Amino acid sequence: MEYAYDDQNIFAKILRGEIPNKTVYENDHALAFHDIQPQAPVHVLVIPKGPYMSLDHFARDASADEQAGFFQAVAAVCDQMGLEEGFRGISNTRGHGVQEVPHYHMHIIGGKPLGRMLSV
Ligand code: 5GP
Repeated sequence: MEYAYDDQNIFAKILRGEIPNKTVYENDHALAFHDIQPQAPVHVLVIPKGPYMSLDHFARDASADEQAGFFQAVAAVCDQMGLEEGFRGISNTRGHGVQEVPHYHMHIIGGKPLGRMLSV
């Protein structure tokens, strides 16, 4: 599969500082910030700083340091947002996954019971 990253996507603009964000955590390889349209009391997006389009792209091509930095950010978000009761991590991917922003991101959603995973 070919991955053609578009650096005009909204999260690339956030990473370049062209659009503001409410940062929760940042390290050398990842940024975590509040979703602009939260679906639950906690709704944070964790994104890598590298140009990866999707979960499968990131899993295939990101370095070990980038992947470690990303998951350190996930852990920091879970600590900071008080998610001891549980949460859901979601990575919508391309058309069938209804991904709107073509820069890899994981939604960290919680703060209330979320119901079953899918209603299709
Ligand atoms: P997707 O459907 O791609 O998995 O989710 C994209 C998410 O990005 C949505 O939940 C949407 O609310 C969020 N989003 C879109 N534009 C912005 C923005 O400019 N700032 C922030 N913080 N979130 C955004």
